[in-house]
Amino acid sequence: MREYNINLDAKKMPDAWYNIMPDMPTPMVPPLHPGTLQPCGPQDLAAIFPMPLIEQEVSMQPMISIPGEVMDIYRLWRPTPLRRAYRLEQALGTPAKIFYKNESVSPAGSHKLNTSVPQAYYNKISGVNELSTETGAGQWGTALSIACAMFDMKCTVYMVGVSFQQKPYRRSMIEAFGAKVISSPSQTTEIGRKLAAEYPDSGGSLGIAISEAVEVAVTSGGTTKYSLGSVLNHVLLHQTIIGEEAKLQLESVGEYPDVIIGCCGGGSNYAGISFPFAPDKIKGGKNIDFIAAEPAACPTITRGTYAYDFGDTGQMTPLLKQYTLGHNFMPPGIHAGGLRYHGVATQVAHLVHEGVMRAVAYQQNPCFEAALIFARSEGIIPAPESSHAIRAAIDEALKCKESGETKTILFSLSGHGHFDMTAYDAYLSGKLEDYELEQDVLNKGIASIPNLG
Ligand SMILES: *Cc1c(COP(=O)(O)O)cnc(C)c1O
Repeated sequence: MREYNINLDAKKMPDAWYNIMPDMPTPMVPPLHPGTLQPCGPQDLAAIFPMPLIEQEVSMQPMISIPGEVMDIYRLWRPTPLRRAYRLEQALGTPAKIFYKNESVSPAGSHKLNTSVPQAYYNKISGVNELSTETGAGQWGTALSIACAMFDMKCTVYMVGVSFQQKPYRRSMIEAFGAKVISSPSQTTEIGRKLAAEYPDSGGSLGIAISEAVEVAVTSGGTTKYSLGSVLNHVLLHQTIIGEEAKLQLESVGEYPDVIIGCCGGGSNYAGISFPFAPDKIKGGKNIDFIAAEPAACPTITRGTYAYDFGDTGQMTPLLKQYTLGHNFMPPGIHAGGLRYHGVATQVAHLVHEGVMRAVAYQQNPCFEAALIFARSEGIIPAPESSHAIRAAIDEALKCKESGETKTILFSLSGHGHFDMTAYDAYLSGKLEDYELEQDVLNKGIASIPNLG
């Protein structure tokens, strides 16, 4: 009998997150205050984040305990299944073994609830009752609205304009959990009005929506804090539960991955699946191929510059050392809205720069092709974002078919695509466009990267 599902006993769910900081191969450079160009201290972040999250942001503790209240909510859907994709392997005719961690089973439909729950919790215990945030595809807005509902908090979500149009039901879902949704750029913030005038036909971007949500927190006089769904160290930290569980699940069937893959927007689900395995390569000498899969229409790591840049278009965040396409880069309106971000997590950037990890970029048509091969063999419609990871996993499996290698491939299925059927319609009717980004378009974005001299 085939064991498709490798389940983890609920009692064995890890009760601490893994912090990669002490295991980094070389020290990381700190975020800088854009005014003084000095390293940001906790006080610089206190206007927008509560202290427990700021402490996690800079922590050098190897493991950080998950609070009991958060564990209780995690148990609503965790541990998530690890599945051996026998049927996909068969469809491809590959000797490779393919495993995927199914984060689509969360009530939000994606991995994002892994961090929205602790973020809401730490704000709540710090006396904050209201959060503001941005959302691209709507996944993060959904996850934060669920978490806020659970902790009885208010929530305002700035939703990237193009997704607001493309994904009306994502918006309804966020509203069903009691949050307020505003299309971005909006007229409700100073920075929104300014950027709407500057980029009239952009359809918005994550960079703009972040600026709006940050402004709301900064100008609230402390009643509202800001919450980010990716990029920051504490967000990546919360996502490591994915890889920690996957490691235990693989161990239980005597397997260890040769290749680990995640789609990469800000880098949180990719970090979640990969970081708990990273010390085995950095210190343990294991030969693991870590692959971040990004869209060719927003090729942050594969074509960006490694430099200090803002996390948002309105230049409100600290300067972060990262791969960046420039904080005013406006990505084309591809359907993987969650991957339309000009930058990437500094921790992921650092590991790529140090040669521990690598990135690949794909156009959307080959990703949807991979998504349907996966859907028709595994029975799950993946999120357009996740389809980038599936494309990379299929390509690695096909390489094994050529070479005869029996590699073990692990990837993160970051979410399902039930709210993305417009995108599938476009693909199935042959109307989905690939975007070949010209170098001069990229150069314009890259010109906005601050020159620190
Ligand atoms: C938000 C999202 C992503 C991209 O964000 P990361 O921080 O890079 O993980 C990927 N997949 C899904 C399903 C998402 O909702």
